[in-house]
Amino acid sequence: MGYYSLIPLIINIMVFMTLVSSRPLPNTRVLLSSNEITNNNNICTSTSCIKTASSDYGSLIQELPYGLLQPSSISDIIHLVQSSYNSSSPFPIAARGNGHSVRGQAMAKDGVVMDMSSLNNNNVTGTVIRVSGNSSLGFYADVGGEQLWIDVLRATLPHGLAPVSWTDYLYLTVGGTLSNAGISGQASFHGPQVSNVLEMDVVTGKGDLITCSKSMNSDLFYAVLGGLGQFGIITRARIVLDHAPTRVKWFKMVYDDFTKFTKDQEHLITNEGFDYVEGSLILKNSPANSFFSSSDQYLINSLASENGILYCLEAVKYYHDEIIYTIEEEIQMIFNTLNVNLGLIFNKDVTFFDFLNRVRSEELVLQSLGLWEVPHPWLNLFVPRSRIADFNQGVLVDIVQKQSLCSGPFLIYPINRKKWDDRMSVVTPEDDDNMFYTVGLLNAAGPTTDPTVIEKQNKKILDYCEKAGIKIKQYLPHYTNKAGWMNHFGNKWSVFKAMKEQFDPKMILSPGQKIFNLD
Ligand code: FAD
Repeated sequence: MGYYSLIPLIINIMVFMTLVSSRPLPNTRVLLSSNEITNNNNICTSTSCIKTASSDYGSLIQELPYGLLQPSSISDIIHLVQSSYNSSSPFPIAARGNGHSVRGQAMAKDGVVMDMSSLNNNNVTGTVIRVSGNSSLGFYADVGGEQLWIDVLRATLPHGLAPVSWTDYLYLTVGGTLSNAGISGQASFHGPQVSNVLEMDVVTGKGDLITCSKSMNSDLFYAVLGGLGQFGIITRARIVLDHAPTRVKWFKMVYDDFTKFTKDQEHLITNEGFDYVEGSLILKNSPANSFFSSSDQYLINSLASENGILYCLEAVKYYHDEIIYTIEEEIQMIFNTLNVNLGLIFNKDVTFFDFLNRVRSEELVLQSLGLWEVPHPWLNLFVPRSRIADFNQGVLVDIVQKQSLCSGPFLIYPINRKKWDDRMSVVTPEDDDNMFYTVGLLNAAGPTTDPTVIEKQNKKILDYCEKAGIKIKQYLPHYTNKAGWMNHFGNKWSVFKAMKEQFDPKMILSPGQKIFNLD
């Protein structure tokens, strides 16, 4: 009998024991038929459940679990984790947020995947987005770890409030992005999403439900933020909110010179003015971008053909309808300080909601073309600022542009480090520069592009960085051996390991990250 085939038996025994020990014995027969036990036994092993639990956005890895649990309450989560922890044969458990990892990080080979979205189906203990606070103390929302950021936005906007730090795409869960960092163009001004959490409820790998913050169980708090799901399952996060703007002025500026491009990016994240700064590559084969009119697109395409590579700085200024007149002047003054060719500044004026939800419309187009659910061999890196020019030449020009395997998107923008707390598990380049660059090579394999060819390119990029001594750190990291992880965490490894021993000593949680559960 396989090691993990004991799982259903163990779960039944543990759940039964938990119930028996907490309720009078005479009711046992009644309890066995109650909803409580039905819920806890609700591990689905059907083909469709296994399919859901063994796939993700990356479509690169498949790990078959024993089954999928659809918890309807936090007690279901606690019971499952305790069942594993108290067993002599602990089984792996992975919380699955929205399954938008690209390398099986939310999978649990031979274990149980917990479909966090099912908490939404329960009106009593499910959906939790509660807005609180006031102008003097600040505003916040208590949000279930299973909630999608788009739903947090929808719930907070009617109060005139919104979170301050975002990801580019909002159909990701709060628990999923807080397990990484959660970055976008706002991160330079407010820090990543992990820097905007006041408190969390976490079910540890021992099955304890613990509330933590900077001042309460702070070890767990900092470990969980960017902790790749290794220490506990986030069931509630208290997220910082601020007054939400109603509209945004959205700019894209095109450069043929990398130095001017990065100089302007760094200038914009250092000085007040804009609220969001990102950047991307435009290559000869980049697809048309709906942001640009067809005549602008034509101009950009011809420039890209001439230069081979262009850089596009994206910046956004928030505003309220009533200050529309002063905003134009403010923006003009900022443009006067930049190196961009004024003829290559393009703009749009959209609602705050539409700006934040911008990737959704692209998703719907790709879905309709059957190009969303394809393999995604992504490579996300944090690059030291001191080496970004070398990285541009050695990777973006000499590898990505020359090999021209995919059309991206390829993101590149600097992030201010000041709001990243080093006590968090999240890893950034180990230097003392006050900025680093994030680079997202967001490749998608198409009908004619073999993902293994892109994987080879990714390896070539990592090898190049290694040889050139560019001390990158992977974001959404993936390593296949212990040395890789130790090197990744660097001076944080000993704390990370100690936290694992403290909060998940039986190495039950998020085995798909392959940190402590290497094959
Ligand atoms: P999942 O993939 O389901 O899980 C990720 C990891 O977190 C797993 O190890 C899982 O076990 C663990 N986990 C899930 N829920 C919990 C929980 N409640 N408690 C503890 N652990 C948990 N990232 C950015 O930072 N910025 C971006 O702009 C950005 N854009 C993206 C756009 C797209 C189209 C995609 C596919 C991804 C993007 N990402 C971005 C990456 C994304 O933030 C991560 O992949 C994130 O983990 C996905 O969230 P999820 O809810 O799908 O998590």
